[in-house]
Amino acid sequence: MAKENKKMEPNKKPKFSAYWIYAIIIVGFLALNFMGGSGWNSAPKTTTSNFQEFLRNGEVDKVVILNRRDAKVYLTQEAKSLEKHQSKKNKSLLPSTANEPDYQFEFGDLQNFENQIAKIKSEKGLETQVIYDTENNFWGEILITLLPFALIIGVWIFIMRRMSGGASGGAGGQIFNIGKSKAKLFDQNTDVKVSFKNVAGLEGAKEEVEEIVDFLKNPDKYTSLGGKIPKGALLVGPPGTGKTLLAKAVAGEAKVPFFSLSGSDFVEMFVGVGASRVRDLFKQAKEKSPAIIFIDEIDAIGRARGKSNFSGSNDERENTLNQLLTEMDGFGTNTNVIVIAATNRADVLDKALMRAGRFDRQIYVDLPDVRERKEIFEVHLKPLTKLEEELDTEFLAKQTPGFSGADIANVCNEAALIAARKGKAAVGKQDFLDAVDRIVGGLEKKNKIITPDEKRAIAFHEAGHATVSWMLEHAAPLVKVTIVPRGQSLGAAWYLPEERLIVRPNQMLDEMCATLGGRAAEKVIFNEISTGALSDLEKVTKQARAMVTIYGLNDKVGNLTYYDSSGQSEYNFTKPYSEQTSELIDKEISNIIEEQYQRAIELLENNKDKLTELAEVLLEKEVIFKDNLEKIFGKRPFNNKEEVITEPS
Ligand code: ADP
Ligand code: ZN
Repeated sequence: MAKENKKMEPNKKPKFSAYWIYAIIIVGFLALNFMGGSGWNSAPKTTTSNFQEFLRNGEVDKVVILNRRDAKVYLTQEAKSLEKHQSKKNKSLLPSTANEPDYQFEFGDLQNFENQIAKIKSEKGLETQVIYDTENNFWGEILITLLPFALIIGVWIFIMRRMSGGASGGAGGQIFNIGKSKAKLFDQNTDVKVSFKNVAGLEGAKEEVEEIVDFLKNPDKYTSLGGKIPKGALLVGPPGTGKTLLAKAVAGEAKVPFFSLSGSDFVEMFVGVGASRVRDLFKQAKEKSPAIIFIDEIDAIGRARGKSNFSGSNDERENTLNQLLTEMDGFGTNTNVIVIAATNRADVLDKALMRAGRFDRQIYVDLPDVRERKEIFEVHLKPLTKLEEELDTEFLAKQTPGFSGADIANVCNEAALIAARKGKAAVGKQDFLDAVDRIVGGLEKKNKIITPDEKRAIAFHEAGHATVSWMLEHAAPLVKVTIVPRGQSLGAAWYLPEERLIVRPNQMLDEMCATLGGRAAEKVIFNEISTGALSDLEKVTKQARAMVTIYGLNDKVGNLTYYDSSGQSEYNFTKPYSEQTSELIDKEISNIIEEQYQRAIELLENNKDKLTELAEVLLEKEVIFKDNLEKIFGKRPFNNKEEVITEPS
């Protein structure tokens, strides 16, 4: 949703670009360097032989040897008035002063030159002075001394600008903005308007945030009774479930400005920047109060202090968090700034954040159930103007178990893209199903090279899954099986899992058995197994481990759990159980899996003919549905506990 946001530009002044100053200084330096020093005085040039002649004639008053390279010739008073010297002088642009040499030239070798002068002087008995001098190129020296500093400063400015994110605002002066908050502001002037109408489902959460809207709209109603308005609410839930959307809707409903940023926006390489950004954010919000500050992914800064002490950058994060706490404590109840934060891991947050007076309200935003998904589909189908037929949103909701609101929004968008790619004028049901498949499994890879042998193995593997899940009471009913490679997988079986709140061991075991059905089929038919079962094995191993160590569903290990909801043990290297228990856990996990594998093998041995038949159909059609299975196996013996969509009462 961030596309249309306007960048927040606090008190924007017409900026005088600092680069002009730099440019002027540099040009000045160069100009002085070239014009200054020896370049200024343009005494007429002469040659060594001419000079020797002047010297012999006794016309030279003194010679200044400069930097062991140049000679400046000063004539005697009488010689100056001579015609030959006057004519030279006139060519010079500048009026001559007493200090100006009359001639100058480069003499080449100093030793040689000195000898010549000495010889002429002794020959003629002259008193001509020879003075040695060095002249510094003043501006050139300064330039050379300053150059390294200029370079260092230049590099520093460059790095600062890089880090403060090139996106923000004008060209110059960004170093000075590094401590400014990066929050985006949505208010009446921005065209993004979200209201509760845009948020489907989430009834409980909506009810709770409606209260916040009420606080913002008429604070007096609450404060007149002596109550304090809450300062913060924490939205907790998996990604894509509409936490940002909900916070935006609160701002939209209360018609107050909405500052949105992510926890990681506070984090910068420099010490103190995070805290300064927090201060700035609250200052801006108070200016616009009543207002809402929304901090997405607050765990980036709100992770419990003193944990994960592996990285040195920890202090900086703690400072930022401390500043946030200070700000939340600091603003009075009458400022009407409410902080809404979102996270998908409330358990790792610092307990200080959850204290009363800070984020004292925790609102859970869960993945939508089938009825909520139906509503979300309805919201997101509205923008699709050209639909082929009246879509059955109930059906779509059933096809998308485990999808978040964001996934569903994605399905609707993807369906439109798929329809467009097919060159259709309207979006149809099949496009939606294709979009779902694509989001679940990735893009179909029709041109992946698969040998006939491999294809056979894949077909039997998938048929194995399908057969076992068909025959087990608690395994999820199958929707479709395909051997068209997609994303990472070579084939796939789609199930429609029941959405259970609690799961019984039997249900878990049946599911594991069905997952192992793929490998079991390979074993039964080819008496060989393959690497193709990797993701199946990963899944069952995790499930078995969870049964034993988390849910306490194993007799031998007993009714205990090694799960730590505070997230604290994540950073521990030691296991919370002894070596013996560790061995026992490993053994039990292995037992559970092997048992289910044997069960799958047995099932498939007994139904080898049906398995083969199914695999042949699969090889021929590549994709088969429930109907095909019913043709082979007959109706599923268990009463289908498919979800019944109930109307909210
Ligand atoms: P989160 O902040 O929880 O990660 P977002 O609020 O950013 O998720 O949700 C992303 C997108 O998903 C939203 O912009 C919206 O289009 C869609 N979405 C999520 N939940 C819902 C919902 N309950 N109703 C309607 N749309 C939703
Ligand atoms: Zn498999």
